[in-house]
Amino acid sequence: MNSGKIVVCGAGGFIGGHLIADLLRQGHRDLRAVDIKPFDEWYQRSPGVESLQLDLQDKAACEQALAGAEQVYNLAADMGGMGFIENNRCLCMLSVLINTHLLMAAHKHGAKKFFYASSACVYNAEKQVDENVTALKESDAYPAMPEDGYGWEKLFSERMCRHYREDFGIATRVARYHNVYGPHGTWEGGREKAPAAICRKVIAAKLSGKHEIEIWGTGNQTRSFMYIDDCLKGTQMLLHSNFVEPLNIGSNEMVTINQLVDIAEAIAGIKLKRNYNLAAPKGVNGRNSDNTLIKKVFNWEPNTRLRDGLEKTYAWIHDQMKAGKSGKH
Ligand code: NAD
Repeated sequence: MNSGKIVVCGAGGFIGGHLIADLLRQGHRDLRAVDIKPFDEWYQRSPGVESLQLDLQDKAACEQALAGAEQVYNLAADMGGMGFIENNRCLCMLSVLINTHLLMAAHKHGAKKFFYASSACVYNAEKQVDENVTALKESDAYPAMPEDGYGWEKLFSERMCRHYREDFGIATRVARYHNVYGPHGTWEGGREKAPAAICRKVIAAKLSGKHEIEIWGTGNQTRSFMYIDDCLKGTQMLLHSNFVEPLNIGSNEMVTINQLVDIAEAIAGIKLKRNYNLAAPKGVNGRNSDNTLIKKVFNWEPNTRLRDGLEKTYAWIHDQMKAGKSGKH
């Protein structure tokens, strides 16, 4: 593969780790992986890939990270599931430094393509008050009333990507991911997201024989969850396309959290008594991805069935728990 140097920022994280592995599978060799975490905390570390431990909030670190870069994937952010986002708004907003300094460094080094991982959290909260939500289309981000902290940072950084493209000619591409899940991610410690948290709780109940589960909120909140393989495919298609506006990359298989638990229980082969914690963070009442635009642009949409992706995720977390490994990074 002769595409020039590809730099993956946030490569020690869930999506970044999978992306590096996928690029290697495709035959890319001129890769650089960057993350703030010590190497032994990266979810996946691919041998033969230049790996750097850098704090990308720092401008000089971004310049070091992107020296010689032709393509940049910015997947670095201080983030987590609802439990983290609702309690760490300032930390989430400080990720604006990462994107700002990375864009400045990309411009300075003459990078050609720049991918930014935005989020469904940019969507106007007023469109997400009902559990029977109408799926969110790209134009629903404005007028702006995104998720406090995390969503505002994403929306601002989206705009900065747009202006770097318009003013300086860098081919920036912005994906709005909707809940990505799969193996090799956080499953405990406070930053984990619903699919991993539910798998962990069901596995713990099965292993301990205490057949109960705590669910955050009423369990009637609706969401859609995208399997990591679909995320990787959509991400790379978008970066190499001519489509310049922010694009939903998400599944439109909407389920309630209770239905997510049903699936995890079916995989485990058990039934649990459900205890609802109404005081816990639960996010918006309803959220789903409208995939009209991505289907139009790519003639494709994320299509891994939740049951299939969750089986793989469950199996991986099960192995981790049985082996006594830590699920928190
Ligand atoms: P992750 O937390 O697993 O990975 C993010 C990585 O960024 C971490 O390894 C972290 O150490 C690194 N990082 C944080 N601050 C850094 C810094 N100052 N310098 C260098 N590295 C730093 O998250 P993820 O699930 O892989 O998400 C990747 C991107 O996709 C993020 O921008 C996230 O906001 C976005 N996103 C993810 C989801 C999802 O469901 N996973 C949904 C919407 C958007």
